Amino acid sequence: MISEKVELLGKGLYKNIPDELTIHAMSTSTQLNYVGAEDFDGNMLDNILPSIIEEDINPRDLLEIDYQWICRCARFITFGPYFTTHTVYCSECGQVHNETRVDLRTIACKSLPEGFVNDIVLAKGDLIDYDGEIHLHLLTIQERINAHKDKLFTTPSGKINQEYARLCYMIHSIGKDKDSTPMAIKAFIEKHLSYPDYLTLVDKAMELTDYGLRAGGVCTCPRCGDEDAAYIALVDDRFFRPTVGDLKSGRDLRSARPAEKSA
Ligand SMILES: [Zn+2]
Repeated sequence: MISEKVELLGKGLYKNIPDELTIHAMSTSTQLNYVGAEDFDGNMLDNILPSIIEEDINPRDLLEIDYQWICRCARFITFGPYFTTHTVYCSECGQVHNETRVDLRTIACKSLPEGFVNDIVLAKGDLIDYDGEIHLHLLTIQERINAHKDKLFTTPSGKINQEYARLCYMIHSIGKDKDSTPMAIKAFIEKHLSYPDYLTLVDKAMELTDYGLRAGGVCTCPRCGDEDAAYIALVDDRFFRPTVGDLKSGRDLRSARPAEKSA
């Protein structure tokens, strides 16, 4: 079986996870039993990742950006880097709906800066009206899952406002309270922040926590041949369902580079 050592984006930030993990290709039984199951993240975290990560870790403790990074590595090791998209975005042609094989290696990843500490500070003066420090952190995948289904953030229409929930989970201190709960953060925002400040806070928080894999990559437009077209490929169940053509292209790539990383 092929395996690969993967250095985590958040190396140095974990207490119970080593900086480098050994990832094995997914077995056929794993594929058949779990991929495509309804709860993609739950299955990935409880069944697939524990079966392909050699080290004994709890995948739910991974930062969200490392969870996605590891999923991408598992995809590459198991199937290769090719993916069939149905929509390409071209500056000449607009949206082109056409099955197009793209190379997932064109999806960039923004690393954490050297010496990064997972306590990001919005200084006084970053907001328009509010004059205090706000501390944020990058979410673990478990925190993101919790945020996205937290009923506290249900809007009158019955949907959960995931962006707002995410923000409140990322902030761990605002005002005088340290280590606040998302509920306390929500209450503080609604009581003490003006709406312009809320919008500024969302914007700043997104900017300061924007690390890890980008949402898509670069490809050739199937209509006009422009090499600077774009596609979107999120880490979800479709990401793990390559076409037979994707697999063959991956195999050809592997045989062109003899066994450099197989173990
Ligand atoms: Zn085009």
